[in-house]
Amino acid sequence: IANKTFFKNSLIKMAELSEEQRDYWTSLDSNIGDGDHGINLSIGFRGISKEIEELDQTTEDIHSLLKKSGMILLSKVGGASGPLYGSFFIKMGKEVEGKTEVTFPEFVEMLQSGIDAIQARGKAELQDKTMLDALLPGIEYLQAHKNEEDYLTVMEKAIQMMQEGAESTIPLIAKKGRAMRLGERAIGHKDPGAESSWMLLNVFYEEMK
Ligand code: ADP
Ligand code: MG
Ligand code: MG
Repeated sequence: IANKTFFKNSLIKMAELSEEQRDYWTSLDSNIGDGDHGINLSIGFRGISKEIEELDQTTEDIHSLLKKSGMILLSKVGGASGPLYGSFFIKMGKEVEGKTEVTFPEFVEMLQSGIDAIQARGKAELQDKTMLDALLPGIEYLQAHKNEEDYLTVMEKAIQMMQEGAESTIPLIAKKGRAMRLGERAIGHKDPGAESSWMLLNVFYEEMK
């Protein structure tokens, strides 16, 4: 279902999305953080989109394309989200080292590895009011349904669960990241990283259609 061009096109669309949503994601971060989440992601993905044609030409497989893209996020984004999203893409690629095409179950394993990397690096659990509150319910659903024939419906439902996961951060107190310092004052605000993460993964779904 996905080859190197699929991932290249997805990264370009993610860069476009980051420009479109920059002010929105930043405003969410102004509520409970330092107001730079959208700026961070737009800078990071702009770095990827600037180099994407060259990255495409100089890489043989999905792994090296995602690895180089992840390294750009790691190096260009100052905030907490840069290393987290950076290792997400790097580990996603590592899962399919040497491959130029992946099946849907393999794609799900890629996401699993990426999300595991976010959790390994950030040490957050469910309900800590982070991006994992969006990602974990989605990947759990994907793992349970990855072998179903109608993978588009499975993916659509998983994205919906991630969106609901992002909504679920609103009443929470943050246990990780900058919003932790706010204590109860974080209640009533959606976590910016949870919102950006389901919207970014939705690009994969749109690209599959
Ligand atoms: P910073 O907080 O350094 O300014 P950003 O604003 O770009 O970085 O990103 C903030 C987002 O990063 C949060 O909304 C949260 O979703 C995510 N985040 C922060 N710390 C962690 C962590 N330890 N694990 C998972 N996600 C985290
Ligand atoms: Mg911030
Ligand atoms: Mg910051």
